[in-house]
Amino acid sequence: MTNEILNKSCCRGKIESSHKIEDDNTCPVCKTPGVKVKNITVKHLVDDTLTELVTDTDYYICMNEECDIVYYNPESGVEFNKQQVKVPIWFKKDANPKYACYCSKVTEEQVINAVIKNGAKTVKDIIEITGAMKNSQCEKNNPLGKCCHKIIQKAIDKGLSMK
Ligand SMILES: [Zn+2]
Repeated sequence: MTNEILNKSCCRGKIESSHKIEDDNTCPVCKTPGVKVKNITVKHLVDDTLTELVTDTDYYICMNEECDIVYYNPESGVEFNKQQVKVPIWFKKDANPKYACYCSKVTEEQVINAVIKNGAKTVKDIIEITGAMKNSQCEKNNPLGKCCHKIIQKAIDKGLSMK
């Protein structure tokens, strides 16, 4: 009897396996756990023609540099890849330019140059030299929706190690 029911509904197994798993935050393509990103950030950064596909939920961002997926929502199955996002994602392969500060459009290269050529050592030095973080709207402009302070620090470290 049980077998008969199973045979009749061939997709039964599929339905069960796609049941919502709480806290499933892995990328649908590369299966790397993602980082949560606010809805407002995703709405602002996906291509204008796709804005209406962004539902009113939060998203995850795939941190794997090799993976083409940027934002995804495991519940709705909505996903956006690199080509569907307006800005290059700095930690993804082939990002060009690689922004360290998205609000003021300061690149990683500019930060590294400021370290090497102008002797900048701290985030404060970088702000003075490059004008980074002047009109901060990170929630909308930074792909993670977070302040770019940490990215700038990483670029400084990179510059210092190249000296
Ligand atoms: Zn991925």
